[in-house]
Amino acid sequence: MSATSQKDWNRANLTKLLWNIHNKADSLWIRWIHSYYIKHDQLMTMPVKPSCSWILKAILKQRELLPNIQGWEHVKGKTITRKVYKVLREDYPLVDWKTVMYQNIARPRAVFIFWLACHSRLATKDRLLKIGLTVNLQCCFCTQEETINHLFFGCTELKHIWQKVLRWLQVDHVPMEWSAELKWITKHSKGKGWKAQLVKSAAAETIYALWKYRNDVCFGNKVYNTNIDDDIINTIVYRGWRNAKLREHIAHLLI
Ligand SMILES: [Zn+2]
Repeated sequence: MSATSQKDWNRANLTKLLWNIHNKADSLWIRWIHSYYIKHDQLMTMPVKPSCSWILKAILKQRELLPNIQGWEHVKGKTITRKVYKVLREDYPLVDWKTVMYQNIARPRAVFIFWLACHSRLATKDRLLKIGLTVNLQCCFCTQEETINHLFFGCTELKHIWQKVLRWLQVDHVPMEWSAELKWITKHSKGKGWKAQLVKSAAAETIYALWKYRNDVCFGNKVYNTNIDDDIINTIVYRGWRNAKLREHIAHLLI
């Protein structure tokens, strides 16, 4: 089990304990929590008191996961751990991070945005809504809802840019929705070969450029979208040229 999946498994188990407390499961520990900590408060809304033990604090923190599983009504006690774990896994798709980040020649700021995207941490509109902000969910480029899966690369406006970059890399691949695309990127970033190195760097520079483009459009800035793919390719050429092993291959791609 990787460190992230272990962490999610722990959270799922803590949520099961929260469920037990909520349902007043018959155990000495839970009766004790009710009579000493919760008393007349409501479990789901009570503040975390400083006097709470670390385990109870950790359990109460899981209340934030409830909207993700649509509340308690839809879960049965026995299945809750697996259900929460599954929800958490969907939010954090399993990716071999080292593969896509290691020796990535993209600019550090591009690698950072790429890393956020890999962790589903970009502030897409659906995520803003989840944390309680009122937002218009509509994608800046079309009529669909903006989720990370839609932006990368369900949305035609952004999909064709990544496809152009891939074509330049002489990779024959039609971009899919983000969760599937990320798996594809990870698979093609493995090994020390020049192509793997260029694919992961191109992915980072592309996600960075597209996220910036999306922000410019969303916030009403003036945008010139005609050269986004050329700019991405130029950056990869510039960054890759300094690497003697990549230089020869990049030269071939430029012919
Ligand atoms: Zn769209």
